[in-house]
Amino acid sequence: MKIYISADMEGITGVTHWDEVEHNKPSVYTQFQERMTKEVVSACKGANDAGAKEIWVKDAHYSGRNILSEQLPENVKLIRGWSGHPYSMVQELDDSFDALLMVGYHSMAGKSGNPLAHTMSSSKLDSVFINEQQTSEFFLHGNIAAKHGVPLVFVSGDAGLCEEVKDVSPNTTTHATMVGVGDSTINIQPETSRKAIREKVKMALSSNLKKCIWAHPDSFSLKVRFIKQQLAYRASHYPGATLLDAKTVAFEASDFDNIMRFMLFTV
Ligand SMILES: [Zn+2]
Repeated sequence: MKIYISADMEGITGVTHWDEVEHNKPSVYTQFQERMTKEVVSACKGANDAGAKEIWVKDAHYSGRNILSEQLPENVKLIRGWSGHPYSMVQELDDSFDALLMVGYHSMAGKSGNPLAHTMSSSKLDSVFINEQQTSEFFLHGNIAAKHGVPLVFVSGDAGLCEEVKDVSPNTTTHATMVGVGDSTINIQPETSRKAIREKVKMALSSNLKKCIWAHPDSFSLKVRFIKQQLAYRASHYPGATLLDAKTVAFEASDFDNIMRFMLFTV
């Protein structure tokens, strides 16, 4: 089995504040960098328990340089930094992979499930809709997996995100690391969380993966609501885009790659 793990940080057990997931306060950040690494390692171990031969990990948070690679199992390839490819948090994903896993993901912009809830950019985007469905980073990148027929078998993150996953992809295994309440989080114990990740990933990869492949529509209608009207005006000049109101831009595509390309160049 060839497995892809996309790892974010805002849904890692315990994460509550931006200074825990950005490099500016090293003494705080390094604790959570270590914890993110350990949750990714747990997912890798679960995949190896299920017989994975090859694992690709995308460090998909902030600088893309958070995971401490020395701790990863030897059959892991780690993608660090950002290439500029439209696939963003699942760069290099293609139909050669048997499954996609997401670790440390978080609730979408405008939802209360995580104090750090956002979609792609907390400073630029108010909300994103694909075919009228309000969209998180999970849903956006899950559609890339669907295009390539790759099943999305496991997602860990806050409880709000896990509810969205159950709604959109009922056969995907979820693991809730925390419940977001206002600007706080209620967390499970980190070691308990790691054990659950390893166990659930193993179980998810040992069952019928095909039931976790999403239907992939023929056309996509994207609506992006920006925080600032200036950003919407700028994005409305992307070829094929339409300004719906001062802050909202619409874009249609039959190939989902073009939806991701729009996001790359306008956000
Ligand atoms: Zn992030």
